[in-house]
Amino acid sequence: MQDNTDNTRLGGTTLHRPAAIITGGGTGIGAACVRRFAREGYSVVINYRRSKAAALALERELNKAGQCALAVKADVSVPEQAEALIARCVEAFGAPEVLVNNAGISLPQKLITETEPREFDRVMRVNAGGTYNCCRAVLPHMIRRHSGAIVNISSIWGVSGGSCETAYSASKGAIIALTKALAKEVGPSGIRVNCVAPGVIDTRMNSALDAETLAGLADAAPLCRLGTPEDVADAVYYLASANAAFITGQVLGVDGGGI
Ligand code: NAD
Repeated sequence: MQDNTDNTRLGGTTLHRPAAIITGGGTGIGAACVRRFAREGYSVVINYRRSKAAALALERELNKAGQCALAVKADVSVPEQAEALIARCVEAFGAPEVLVNNAGISLPQKLITETEPREFDRVMRVNAGGTYNCCRAVLPHMIRRHSGAIVNISSIWGVSGGSCETAYSASKGAIIALTKALAKEVGPSGIRVNCVAPGVIDTRMNSALDAETLAGLADAAPLCRLGTPEDVADAVYYLASANAAFITGQVLGVDGGGI
């Protein structure tokens, strides 16, 4: 893994700030989570794989504003890179208090018969595998301190299934099962694990959909609009915060009432 970070890029003081890692934090929902946690006083690791320019720009913006952020490259689908990501956070900011498993990919909508096995594997490896890899790497640090919160990003399709989205739906359903199982496993160690299931959110992940389709999806939601990255970040922050101290193993829909 190429680690192009150095401590001289860090902005405001890192002392007494809890640390949060947001995977896929350079764009969309991840970037909104980064901004929210930084604003709330966290030192934030912005993980990116390909979105280097966006991650570095966000890092600069936050450090310039006296907040504290560090962009770190890692492909979370590779166990060794997930481990190096967590280790970089520990080195720069100390043991993470929060991990947000947000990194994810989708496929263009297609029938299962048109979905290649290697495409299915890739979606599972990034979405479910990346979540597993990062949880596995971060937990020893959280268990040692008997404290921590993990928030995983699933999807409405992981709950209800999306037609022509079998690989994506399966990967997001796996994240829900992982969340529930892990919450039981690490609850006695003082760690909470929850999940948000966004509906249709206005990000580049939906950029392949035309305006008419997006308008139809907005109309189909009881709240009659698409979600924003900030809608999701608010729910993620809530689940990670002390306000959710007795909540674990849950799936919170952020979907305007469903589709
Ligand atoms: P996005 O494409 O902007 O964000 C995904 C991020 O993950 C990107 O920054 C991408 O570079 C990063 N990423 C992808 N593979 C990676 C890897 N192997 N290692 C590290 N980073 C990787 O789109 P988004 O809508 O902000 O998606 C964020 C999350 O929200 C995803 O998990 C997505 O499945 C989920 N989600 C999105 C919607 C929606 O409608 N946009 C709905 C439900 C769930």
